[in-house]
Amino acid sequence: MFDINTLLRNNIKVLTPYSSARDEFKGAAEIFLDANENSFGSPAAVTFNRYPDPLQRSLKEKISAVKGVPAHNIFLGNGSDEPIDLLYRAFCNPGKDNVIITPPTYGMYEVSANINDVFVKRAPLLPNFQLDIDLIGSLISPQTKLIWICSPNNPTGNSMQREDVELLLNNFNGIVIVDEAYINYSRSKSMIAELVEYPNLVVLQTLSKAWGLAGLRIGMAFASEDIIQILNRIKPPYNISEVAQREALNSLDHIEQVNDWIRTTVKEREALSVHLKQLPFVQHVYPSDANFLLVKFNDPREIYHYLVGNGIIVRDRSNVLLCEGCLRITVGTPDENRKLLKVLSEYSLVKS
Ligand SMILES: *Cc1c(COP(=O)(O)O)cnc(C)c1O
Repeated sequence: MFDINTLLRNNIKVLTPYSSARDEFKGAAEIFLDANENSFGSPAAVTFNRYPDPLQRSLKEKISAVKGVPAHNIFLGNGSDEPIDLLYRAFCNPGKDNVIITPPTYGMYEVSANINDVFVKRAPLLPNFQLDIDLIGSLISPQTKLIWICSPNNPTGNSMQREDVELLLNNFNGIVIVDEAYINYSRSKSMIAELVEYPNLVVLQTLSKAWGLAGLRIGMAFASEDIIQILNRIKPPYNISEVAQREALNSLDHIEQVNDWIRTTVKEREALSVHLKQLPFVQHVYPSDANFLLVKFNDPREIYHYLVGNGIIVRDRSNVLLCEGCLRITVGTPDENRKLLKVLSEYSLVKS
């Protein structure tokens, strides 16, 4: 049986969280002299002299409306990186516990494990980039606290089969994290709807990709109220700045613009895939549910440097397990994609 209290680290269980001035007095008042802020204001025209809302209540209400998830099931972090780190700190005893990752996948799960001195077990994806459920099952030990699933996966671009993810959720007594950073570009539905069913599910999303706000650093974790409260207890009190909260609130009003970009990106992704496949030095273009394509080349390093020489930077993934020979190419604007294809078609000419 899944029991959040046996999973939680002892030091976190007994922790007295930091209590801010705004935690201790939440009401309205004329004069606030309780937080050692500068009551005069800020030097520039925009005022930031007051501490931001530690629990980002207005922003969560808006995200709640957009996502259809109650606000008490939402945690906001300084990028997805923050909830990733906090999940280690809450549930993994350094030097003792372990987690499972499924390479090739997003690098932060492992970096964050290393920072927290948590042992990483690897269950590489199958050649079709799906989860090796038997291998994952055989790696689970009593010290296994977290399983990281990225869907759609970075850098392979595919979504994981839902039955596999649900099999893990049903049989693993630790926490299954499904990182949905690219969900807006996917044919598959978000796991968010499954939150009511699985107390051990954490869904990560972000404003960094489809919402075009990578510079603001806002990551979202959706989970049971128990898990959200644990993350709230251990986070730095003011983890989302006032600027970020305000700008994110404004951006969430522009959902039509965002949906428009998503539609264009998906259309461009499919067209780019068709055109790339026609190039003689392209071996394979993997199907993608994300805003990038994983493309296998005869000579990826040479193509990489050729593109750099033409002012176009892509990501070299040719040394990554199961991605041998591959470059990861983000889908740009129609104009950028046209230029990429033009430059690549000239490579054929140069080489023939
Ligand atoms: C880009 C990306 C993120 C986003 O991270 P932020 O810290 O929210 O910018 C998260 N997970 C994956 C798999 C990504 O590729």
